This record gives sequence, C-alpha cells and structure tokens, in this order.
Amino acid sequence: MTVNNYNRYAILRYHEAGLKGKNRSFFINHIVRNVRRVTRNMDVDKVWAERGLIGVQLNENANWDLIYDALRKVFGIVKISLAQRGSHNLEKLKEEILTVTKNKDFDSFRITTKRADKKFPLTSQEVNTKLGKFIQEETGTSVSLKNPDLTIYVDILPRTLYFYSDPLPGAGGLPVGTGGEVGTLLSGGIDSPVAAQRMMKRGCRVVFIHFHAFPLVDGSSRDKAIELVEVLNEYQGQSRLYLVPFAEVQKHIIVSAPPAYRVVLYRRFMVRIAEQIALQEKAQALITGESLGQVASQTLENITVVDSVTEKPIFRPLIGMDKTEIIQQAMNIGTYPISILPDQDCCTLFVPKHPVTRSNEAQIKPIEADLDVESLVHLAMDNLEIRDYD
Ligand code: ATP
Ligand code: MG
Repeated sequence: MTVNNYNRYAILRYHEAGLKGKNRSFFINHIVRNVRRVTRNMDVDKVWAERGLIGVQLNENANWDLIYDALRKVFGIVKISLAQRGSHNLEKLKEEILTVTKNKDFDSFRITTKRADKKFPLTSQEVNTKLGKFIQEETGTSVSLKNPDLTIYVDILPRTLYFYSDPLPGAGGLPVGTGGEVGTLLSGGIDSPVAAQRMMKRGCRVVFIHFHAFPLVDGSSRDKAIELVEVLNEYQGQSRLYLVPFAEVQKHIIVSAPPAYRVVLYRRFMVRIAEQIALQEKAQALITGESLGQVASQTLENITVVDSVTEKPIFRPLIGMDKTEIIQQAMNIGTYPISILPDQDCCTLFVPKHPVTRSNEAQIKPIEADLDVESLVHLAMDNLEIRDYD
C-alpha cells in the first residue's frame, strides 16, 4: 500500500510502557528513539510522543509495507495504524471522514472516539453519536456496536486530531534499552535466537556471543550466527556479535578429559569466556537457549555445574518450553529458516553417544585441574572477532 494525502501519519499505541508512573517518559522516549532508528531511511519526516500515543509523519515517497514491517518489530508498541489528520471542527471532520469511507466496502460500522483533550466541547460519546448519525445517513449503512464491518477510531488531542480504521498489531513488550544489557550465547541452532528475542522483548539490549571450532570444522555455524544476528538486529536496531575461536579450548579438553564430560566442560568454558565479554560490554547477565531436559547437558545437575563458574546470573527464558513451542516462535520471528540449515557446531565435536547427565562439582574439579583454565580463557579473549550491525 502506498501513502497518499489522506494518510500521512502512523499512530502508535503503547500499553505497558504507559503504566510506569514516574518512569513513564523514560520508557516512551525509548520507543520514540527506537522508532526513529528503524525508520531512519524510510521517508519518515518526524517521530514524536503526544498524549498517550506516538506519531510518525510520513512523506509522499514512504512505502507503508516497509515501514509497517519495521514498526511491528519495535517492542513497546501494541497497535499501529495508518491515520489521517482531521479537524477539531465537527462539521469539517464529518466531511473528512466521509471522504475516506467512500473507498471502503462495508455495510455496518461504528465510531470509537477517544478524547485525550478534556477541553474539547463534546464528550467521546457525543462525538460517536454525531459522527455515526452523519455517516449512516450519507452512506446508507448501519451502525453496529457489537460486530461492525468497519470501525473508525477518532483520537482527539489538544492540538491535533487523528482518525483511522484497521489498526495492525504491534510487538508488545518493553522498549529495547530500558532493561539493561545481556550477553546471549548464540549457537546456530533454533533455541538461542528465540531466547535472545525474548530478552529484547523485555527491554534488554542483547550482545551476541558465538563460539566456533573453525578450523577443526568448517565455518558453517559461524556463517549462520552472522545471518541470525542480521535477522535479530531488526528487533533492536543496533547489535554486536562476538565470534569466539573455541578450537584451542576444545583440543585441550579432548586430550585431558574423559569423553563423557566433554560437553559439560565445553559449556563451563563458554560461560567463563562469555562472562569476560559481558564484563567488557557491561552486560549484567548471560542468556542461553536451554530448555529443561531437552538434551543431556540440560539437566538440573548439569545446569548447576555450569552456573557455578560465573558470578553473573544466567537466565534461560525457554527453560519451561517444549521444542514445538520454541519452533513456532522461531518461525514467527524469522530465524527458523536459518537455524535449520545444516552446520558443524562446536558442541557436537568429539562428543560421545552417552554424555554424563548428572555431573557435579566434585567430579568436575579434578578433571579441570589438568587444564590451564585461565590461559585458555585468555587465549580466546585475545583472538575475538567483533562484528557490528547497524
Ligand atoms: P540451540 O538450538 O540454541 O543450539 P540446543 O537445543 O542445540 O540449543 P545445546 O546445543 O545444548 O542445545 O546448547 C544449549 C545452549 O548453549 C544454546 O541454546 C546456546 O545458548 C549455548 N550454545 C551452544 N552452542 C553454542 C555455540 N556454539 N556458541 C554459543 N552458544 C552456544
Ligand atoms: Mg545447538
């Protein structure tokens, strides 16, 4: 759909961000900033906050489909409508609304007015009745409050007035940037991209950390991580990906540890390195895509043994989800097609058929004693590759 002289505005509504009492403007300013960022090159003239809504002014070259696709990924917004500016003068407003209804096919309609400007001389209900009666007479259609074909929303603000129909859904959640920063361990798989997106939805900015075993394996997991961040970046507008060479660490583990313990040891090293990256980035927590019991490394015992190597909290937003639910989410957010491409993940490297499912610190400690933990972590930190996305 293209914009025209009648619909040069997008009206965005928020919900949870509006409930934040004294911090309200902090949350709303973040939405405004994030909207500006994602629509930067999209013929948007202005973005502003105004009495319970966020307005976006489009210029005549704007492509609404592209703009909606960007806006629907901005957390904090619950409703997105392509709107027209109307007059405060009721007689003029009647004609303006009538003009728009001429292009629509409907037998029944309702008017839903919201009056943020309490000085406006008519109540919302009076506006509904007067406009409704007029449209009904002019178009020969009928008013239906319960199940209308068309709902026309009228928002009356102190200096402006907007009307629109057919609002589209927004992403909900809280604006990215209001919840602090987290480091997400991103594999090339299905789960961790979903976990990352969930944290963004709660207002966190995510820094991505991917471990790859190149050149022990090909670079396919690394390539997938790069592509996944491209998709996930659309939900936060600016991202950083750390690519961590993990082959050296793995070689040492393979030589000195019993095969059954390899996966748990890989994980402990990943978390130690991720913690160092988190410190550099001022990220306050680590995130993984684990779900309880899904594979051997995701039992309560093994999770405990992994958590104990870091001071940072590790959050696992998918811990209570089934694989089918996670797959559905991955499809919704657009990461699934990338995640299912074949790859050679470092965690599958030299892993036995039957890894330990119930390890504990007492077993792990003596095995790790044969490894120079600190210098292995340093080696990885000295060889990081960083990619920034804008
Ligand atoms: P995913 O679908 O996210 O790969 P998974 O079901 O395959 O998860 P595991 O392979 O056991 O489960 O990985 C568990 C979690 O450990 C992942 O969700 C991710 O957070 C982290 N992880 C695993 N491999 C890597 C990797 N190569 N780089 C970064 N993080 C990883
Ligand atoms: Mg995996």
